[in-house]
Amino acid sequence: MRYVIVGGGVAGTTAAEALRKRDAKSEITLVSEEHHPLYSRVLLPHYLKGKVPRERVFLKKEAWYGQQQIEWLTGIACEHLDPRNQFVGLTDGRELPYDRLLVATGGEVRTVDADLRGVSYLRTLDDADHLAQILCEQPADARAVIFGGGFIACEYLNLFSHFRLPTTLFHRGAHFWTRSLGEEAGALIAKHLTERGVELHTRTQFVNLLGESELTGVVTSQGEHAAHLLGVGIGTSPDFSWLKAAGVDVGAGVRTNAFLETNIPHVYAAGDIAEFFDEIVGRHIQAGNWMNAMSQGRAAAHIMSGEREPFHLVSSYATNALGLEIIFVGDTLKDAADEVRVLGSVHALGVTQIFVRQGRVVGGVLIGRNQDRAAITKAIQEQKTASEFEIC
Ligand SMILES: Cc1cc2nc3c(=O)[nH]c(=O)nc-3n(C[C@H](O)[C@H](O)[C@H](O)COP(=O)(O)OP(=O)(O)OC[C@H]3O[C@@H](n4cnc5c(N)ncnc54)[C@H](O)[C@@H]3O)c2cc1C
Repeated sequence: MRYVIVGGGVAGTTAAEALRKRDAKSEITLVSEEHHPLYSRVLLPHYLKGKVPRERVFLKKEAWYGQQQIEWLTGIACEHLDPRNQFVGLTDGRELPYDRLLVATGGEVRTVDADLRGVSYLRTLDDADHLAQILCEQPADARAVIFGGGFIACEYLNLFSHFRLPTTLFHRGAHFWTRSLGEEAGALIAKHLTERGVELHTRTQFVNLLGESELTGVVTSQGEHAAHLLGVGIGTSPDFSWLKAAGVDVGAGVRTNAFLETNIPHVYAAGDIAEFFDEIVGRHIQAGNWMNAMSQGRAAAHIMSGEREPFHLVSSYATNALGLEIIFVGDTLKDAADEVRVLGSVHALGVTQIFVRQGRVVGGVLIGRNQDRAAITKAIQEQKTASEFEIC
């Protein structure tokens, strides 16, 4: 059997590892656009704050791939899929035949157009190395700006606070995570951040950057703001073109059934890229978190090698914004819920939202209310009805 895995992040690498554990003989090729062996994106902020040395960010050594007899192609992307003849085309011109193909290509950051010194992103180790450099170069009176109102914006807030940089944050929505949070939860985050000195501008559009070769400021729909350092955290948008051209069904991600199978025979998807049918919550969702990516990588390996079990996991993403704990569990899209119950308040310094669809608990967002996590996760897992589920 020839397995080709596209994407050397945690989903792809875990799949390769799990395949090799199950099968000593099959050919496994891992195509990785990045040059580094597997590293933890979760640890990148810790590396930037100097809490984790750079070498500890790596989860695999270069030698590991050879030891596992995994052909590891680095600095090469997959750009073509021929599903009829079952091969993929690579950017170096090679064509790789496959019996089973796993797409584990994650997300690609959305960028702002101008390329000025001082503009940063935070997805890859190369991004982090670049950011580490520009953080060192900042003058004593440096000002930082963040675009975005999601997880990466939180990482930037914590990072810039660590370096004591006065920070202004702009985002398009009325509050953080507008697709998931209601007003009370949004207000709690805003209050927490502004009380800690963040200048927060909501409902603001990015217009332009200022500066010749170095960033001096940003222009938004509210006017000009001085800035030496910009953190861009406006989401990801994967490049689906080569998959679409081959007839793979894509929505916000690569669509799969509960077995991580796409509409094309022998082509599977796992990790951030997969918009999989989640049998627990009863609809297609895309879960952008580490535990989901790792578990799907392992599950895809099992399914591709013949153990066809549906993928089941209630995954979560926990972060914090300047000390305020924020946790997303399960399906947290407001528009897909019939009802969103709100517990707590800004006044009580904690808000939990419970997402209910067809009478069942399908998701939760907890802001400053960590204590609700186990109960909500269990309710989703056990497909409890909202009336069976009580937390105070
Ligand atoms: C700074 C940061 C902090 C985070 N913190 C947390 C956290 O605290 N908790 C949590 O749960 N999650 C966290 N996450 C999210 C988590 O890291 C991701 O959900 C996870 O890494 C997704 O893994 P993946 O393998 O699906 O995709 P990725 O890690 O994105 O890997 C995909 C790989 O595929 C490569 N690729 C793309 N296209 C091609 C192609 N055509 N050909 C070949 N290769 C290709 C990409 O270059 C990339 O290397 C964080 C993410 C970041 C960036």
